[in-house]
Amino acid sequence: MADHVTKNLLGGISLYFHIPFCQKKCHYCDYASFPIDPSYFPFSQYFDLLSRECDTRLARLSHNQKNLRSLYIGGGTPSLVPTRYYGGLLRALSRHFPPEEVAMAENTFEANPESVTIENLKALRSIGFNRISLGIQSLNPLTLEKMGRVHTVNRAFAATAFAKTVFDNVNCDFIVGYDPNPYDTLDPLLRFIRCFQPEHLSIYPLEIHPDTPLGKERADYPEVTSKASYPSRVFPLLQDLLRSEGYRHYEVSSYGRPGFFSRHNLRYWENADYLGIGLSAGGHIQRTRYVNTADWERYLRTTLERGTPEASYLSENGAIEELKETLFMGLRTAEGVDLGRLKSAWSPGDLEDFLRLFFGEEDYVIRNDRLRLTGESFFYNFEALERAMDICDRFFTERPIPGNRELRD
Ligand code: SF4
Repeated sequence: MADHVTKNLLGGISLYFHIPFCQKKCHYCDYASFPIDPSYFPFSQYFDLLSRECDTRLARLSHNQKNLRSLYIGGGTPSLVPTRYYGGLLRALSRHFPPEEVAMAENTFEANPESVTIENLKALRSIGFNRISLGIQSLNPLTLEKMGRVHTVNRAFAATAFAKTVFDNVNCDFIVGYDPNPYDTLDPLLRFIRCFQPEHLSIYPLEIHPDTPLGKERADYPEVTSKASYPSRVFPLLQDLLRSEGYRHYEVSSYGRPGFFSRHNLRYWENADYLGIGLSAGGHIQRTRYVNTADWERYLRTTLERGTPEASYLSENGAIEELKETLFMGLRTAEGVDLGRLKSAWSPGDLEDFLRLFFGEEDYVIRNDRLRLTGESFFYNFEALERAMDICDRFFTERPIPGNRELRD
């Protein structure tokens, strides 16, 4: 369905910048973010260090890796920070990429409704962002309150109207799982879509993390559903509804109109190269995976001293690890995994044996040299996929695999 989209995605580099500032902490949030007062916060120190880390990491890439495919400013709440700081970041990129390459890349800016104005959106558009992603999360006033979000439903409507005026590529993020009755989510969502026609929707199941206020007070919210059971009830309904409105369900949590699939996220799912820059940001370059420290003081000190921050995780993937990542990231997409990328590591017989161990024959298809999940399986049962990773480990460690022994870690 989207061959033309993903086939050209593997080369080059994508950049993710993490902006960890928020107005207040949402009840379910376990991201690396913290509340600040934007009137007083000294943003320049962090943005200087983002540029420094970006320069250092880009300088380490080989010439043929230096082709910018996408840029993503995420958080946190990037829209809390004055736009001039992002102008500085984009100017830093011009030291590494020709201006026309930056202009041609998919450049996404994440914003929350409470800090969106028509003026800041116009300023972001004028400095080079061509896609906006709005964190709306719910269209139910009581649910927004339970989530601890700052914005109201009216504010979400206004921000979306502004975004559609300024940008021709708008994503809206939603979380499902707070409303016990799926139709409390689906009915307002349908009205919203018909009103604003966003080009892209990201719809995530609620995850309950023990260290968040929601995790600690879960007993107060018995109706809140966990990610394990909710998708199988709601996602088939969502898929039908959004298909009838012209969206394609091209990844477990992503729905796009043709031509508007997220190029940046597709690179994650293709296990392509990207650099994460900033507090707690992670990257994948060739076989190396890293995650920057989430400790603010350490991030500032070590980036200043060394050009890149201390890592909380740094590992060179073995061939098996890389294969597992490629397989399971790819299975998130409707287009599936390019078997050509697995064959050098896994013979067709081994792969089929593995698939039979985990999936029923009706759960997957192999067509045009791509493996993809079908029906219910595509709704991505998270616990089942964690089990699949274990089976994958055992498959390689317990069973002799002729011709693949050199791949053992
Ligand atoms: S706005 Fe996003 S990053 Fe900030 S606290 Fe809420 S969920 Fe977390």
